[in-house]
Amino acid sequence: MDKQFFENIESKIPRGGFRTRFAPSPTGFLHLGGIRTALYAYLLAKKAGGTLILRIEDTDRERRVDGAAEYIYKTLAACGITYDEGPNVGGPVAPYVQSERQEIYGAYAVRLIENGHAYYCFCDKETLDEQRLIHEASRVPHRYDRRCAALSAEEIASKLSAKTPYVIRQKVEQNGKTVFNDAVYGRIEVENSTLEDQVILKSDGMPTYNFANVVDDRLMGVTHVIRGNEFLASTPKHVLLYQGFGWDTPAYIHVPQIMRNATKKLSKRDGDAYFGDFIEKGYLKDAILNYIALLGWSPGGEEEKFSLEELVQKFDVAGISKSPAIFDYQKLNWLNGAYLRAMSESEYHDAVLPYIKQVVTRDVDTRYIASLLQGRCELLSEIPEQVDFIDAALPHDLELYTNKKMKTDASGAKIVLPQVRAAISALSQWNKDAIHSEISSLVERLGMKNGQVLWPMRVALSGKTFTPGGSIEICVILGKGETLMRLDAAIERLANA
Ligand code: GLU
Repeated sequence: MDKQFFENIESKIPRGGFRTRFAPSPTGFLHLGGIRTALYAYLLAKKAGGTLILRIEDTDRERRVDGAAEYIYKTLAACGITYDEGPNVGGPVAPYVQSERQEIYGAYAVRLIENGHAYYCFCDKETLDEQRLIHEASRVPHRYDRRCAALSAEEIASKLSAKTPYVIRQKVEQNGKTVFNDAVYGRIEVENSTLEDQVILKSDGMPTYNFANVVDDRLMGVTHVIRGNEFLASTPKHVLLYQGFGWDTPAYIHVPQIMRNATKKLSKRDGDAYFGDFIEKGYLKDAILNYIALLGWSPGGEEEKFSLEELVQKFDVAGISKSPAIFDYQKLNWLNGAYLRAMSESEYHDAVLPYIKQVVTRDVDTRYIASLLQGRCELLSEIPEQVDFIDAALPHDLELYTNKKMKTDASGAKIVLPQVRAAISALSQWNKDAIHSEISSLVERLGMKNGQVLWPMRVALSGKTFTPGGSIEICVILGKGETLMRLDAAIERLANA
């Protein structure tokens, strides 16, 4: 490539200002750890008044999944994690999808050869397999034996002109150490002799992650790299690539893993790996985001409920921990409940409506039902079981009428329920106050305790012993006609028992 090619690209590199990126591989759904990285990158960029880039790292063709990039855009948008530059928003250093930048990686790989920090490797699969077997047999750690680093210029030229397939490998200086600083893990020092001459450009011309990542971070003007600590071990190789090009390295911030417990990672099988799993389980996106912000980062202090804007204010790299973050469902549930309680009545209604509709098809006052539910559940997925009696009274055992504390049972219900029916059937107004005053005077007339009337009513009307609101509220939800019908059915059943 001529000088002009490089000059053109490098003249576009934004300079000055804080620039970070989220660089997922589109290999499937967005993992919770991925969202946390995106969130931290967003918080850092916002706090610094800088730029967040979304870059799709799709150079591994075998692992690429169709539609995964779109899923990433959608999930980030749903979370409110906005970015300033990216495939679907454009920007000064486009394209932001690695498979569209192949020519760039090829050119920079050759430039690295010219700089003496990379070389063509013509070893075929058999040769490499043989090396591996020899290493395995002699129990030495397998590493490419660097034979192609020793090829003469003539040998290389003749293999290239014969179109012998090749890869390009990084040439790691075997002496000395590579040292870098990580904002979380501190100073990291690695003996160069432990690093392999990794492939940077594959035989199909596609770069490997390690190479594309470095070239892109440089050409996109990235000043801060934040990512999972599974990349910490590859970072020395990245640092050597920067040095090979004569470029400054970005600042590194590696974040700890998220674990299900001390030994197990979050997993697809346990349904706790993906953001979508949690939405399906009835968690609110704000609660999930708030919770994952706290997985591996602590603001210090007691407070734990933060909006996205508050997180921007509070977030600080110094609060990121080195140790793995253990996922704590209890805490997530508590936070989710706190978010549900804090909603306005109408927000809460909108959130629970789809869950009510899962089991209720009758025309009922869903706003009233929502007002009774708010505060009762930590999870939206608990809603259907709360309201499953509304379409039809659940079949129940007469035993449910027995409540020792309320001093009531089926024979008490047999006496009370016809009286309830007679009292409320005369009502011309059907609302909580009217029903309440009618039932109160009935309780008085019968010389009973409230529970001796209200308990059998609840069982007769719902078939349940726990309901959102009490028996009077159930009458209101069901409406007069349905209430009387259910009372009649219960009276008949008790009479025949
Ligand atoms: N593509 C890598 C991943 O999927 C990104 C690593 C990085 O941020 O450098 O996690």
